[in-house]
Amino acid sequence: MNACPKIVLNVGKGMKKTVSFSKNTANMFFHILTACNLRCRHCYINPEQHGQDTLPITTIEAWLECFAGKHPNTNVIFLGGEPTLHPDLPQAIRTAKKLGFSSVTVDTNGYLFHDILEKVTPDEVDFFSFSLDGASRKTNDAIRGDGCFDACTSGIRNAKQKGFHTSLIYTVSRLNAHELFHIPKLLKDLGINRFFIQVIGIRGKSAQHADIQLSRKEWLDIVPKTAENVAELGITVTYPKVFLDPEEPFECAGRVADNYFIFPNGRVYRCPLCEDFPLHGMRLENNRLLESRKISENELFLLDISEGCVMNRLIQPQNLSYSQDRTAEYKIACCMLKEEISN
Ligand code: SF4
Ligand code: SF4
Repeated sequence: MNACPKIVLNVGKGMKKTVSFSKNTANMFFHILTACNLRCRHCYINPEQHGQDTLPITTIEAWLECFAGKHPNTNVIFLGGEPTLHPDLPQAIRTAKKLGFSSVTVDTNGYLFHDILEKVTPDEVDFFSFSLDGASRKTNDAIRGDGCFDACTSGIRNAKQKGFHTSLIYTVSRLNAHELFHIPKLLKDLGINRFFIQVIGIRGKSAQHADIQLSRKEWLDIVPKTAENVAELGITVTYPKVFLDPEEPFECAGRVADNYFIFPNGRVYRCPLCEDFPLHGMRLENNRLLESRKISENELFLLDISEGCVMNRLIQPQNLSYSQDRTAEYKIACCMLKEEISN
């Protein structure tokens, strides 16, 4: 495995850094069910590939145990679907804490089913992470459905009132990039602790709308500036690096990092861009974590190409650009390479 480079830049008052892939941390992105009350236009859940099961609590606990010992520092992020639809989520959270996970996060669309805020405490959940895809009701609800903006912002306020740390995830596309400049005020009003900007992935439902990804120019015009504006408010911001200059170092997280994207049908992916395909590098079988036997994402990670990320080249090459001699004008960074700004 290669050493991970770390690029640190100062931007104004804030400290901006490229977050290298950590050797000492693992992340377990645990989809405990795929059911959801919403029908977002860009939903990445693909029932054909990820199944439609709701995992029983005994399986959730057994799978948590499989990952708890992998690293001294493993974070668990409970996802769905909508994870709060699972009636046993509080027990799953408590088991994760008992097993010694470094942090426990619940990613939610904000509806907070089963009175989850009454059943867990801020000592048990490090972050409730909410998804909002517009700074206004109109833009957010056009993507996520009527009533979602109000439900999500009210969920955030309730969580804050009960003393939970909150983060907000904004998935940027051509449908909502124009509102990103208005997000700092909303984050401040809501008392958000951390802000995550995501690039829309061309997978799941978004695979039908490849043209909604921002071009390199659009991304660079909007995203870093907004991140700086948010950081100036004292909120830590993380966003994908996406575009690397040719001289910048490229690394594939599939080779050097420990991220596990786990689905209820037992598939375990190391790369989110592979999730629309049966390319999972590992699988959970009889509550044991096993390597995939066939050709999987693991072999693709090993291909060195001038465009950087091999999965990007295969499934969403429209964000690439070539000079006349057909060399790539820039590389696409690993989708898990982030910039982070904090004061
Ligand atoms: S809230 Fe999440 S899981 Fe539910 S439809 Fe939206 S993107 Fe999909
Ligand atoms: S996004 Fe690309 S670079 Fe990152 S893990 Fe996947 S294949 Fe590797």
